[in-house]
Amino acid sequence: MNELIPVFAPDAGLSKRLDVEKVVLVFDKLEDTLESGSSHEREQSLHCVIVREARNLDLLTFEGIEHALPIALFVPAVGSIRIAISRAKVYSAFNLRIFLPALPRENLVHARILASLGIEMAVVIPQEEKDLPWDEISDLMHYAVYSPSRKGSIEPFERFVTRGDTQGVTAFGSPWFDDPERFIHIDAQGRLAFSKRDLEEGHFLQTRPEELSNLHQNEEYQGNLKRWQASFLRNSKCSYCAAWSACQGAYIESCSHDPRCEAFFSEMVEALDFRSQNRGRTKIWQS
Ligand code: SF4
Repeated sequence: MNELIPVFAPDAGLSKRLDVEKVVLVFDKLEDTLESGSSHEREQSLHCVIVREARNLDLLTFEGIEHALPIALFVPAVGSIRIAISRAKVYSAFNLRIFLPALPRENLVHARILASLGIEMAVVIPQEEKDLPWDEISDLMHYAVYSPSRKGSIEPFERFVTRGDTQGVTAFGSPWFDDPERFIHIDAQGRLAFSKRDLEEGHFLQTRPEELSNLHQNEEYQGNLKRWQASFLRNSKCSYCAAWSACQGAYIESCSHDPRCEAFFSEMVEALDFRSQNRGRTKIWQS
């Protein structure tokens, strides 16, 4: 099992408490990443930085930003798509993935346009949202998985179909760091949680940052990993969902209001099967 990667805002004191090789640092503004410094100034190497911007993409300049710095840039929206298109080469010059929330729906159209220009994109599908645009998300997924005209990848679809497990379960939210088998989120008080949302809602593990390197063996951690079983205990729709392996009840909050999640995740499973069957396939004349 790979080492867990802690996700936290820059804090030299916290870094010193962590016995890990890689970290993800979280910033509020793109300019603040200039403080991330080079690797020899930090205790650990950078997996990437997360920037959670309040500004739209078209308002951001990348002046002074290091081209090689891996950046997960979360913005609420694109703003002017015309400005964003005119800057496509600028975005492509950075080691950058742009994350847009799936709402408003316009974001899904913009993600598609920017991916068609070669920009690495992601759409975040929030679990707490009741009215998710599943049909439009499905359209974007089909484009991301099946269209030969797409140049940049679109997450979470790309990771799911290229790295997903056809026999087991796959963490759909891993591209936006909701994957407790890969990432652990830590707040300024050194409290650990499985996701940014868990941190905000106060669902903390009792474990201390110093114990992170042994967390996979920790009983509390293992118990929390299995909390999905509550979906079965509650006898919810998830307990007989055909696409449970892809979703694992992640959208249980919206599914009683809008059950289209099952159709979407069934399509995701089909896409995973399609891609896995075509992984490494060679044509006769190529061999
Ligand atoms: S797709 Fe919907 S019904 Fe199926 S497991 Fe996810 S939330 Fe539950």
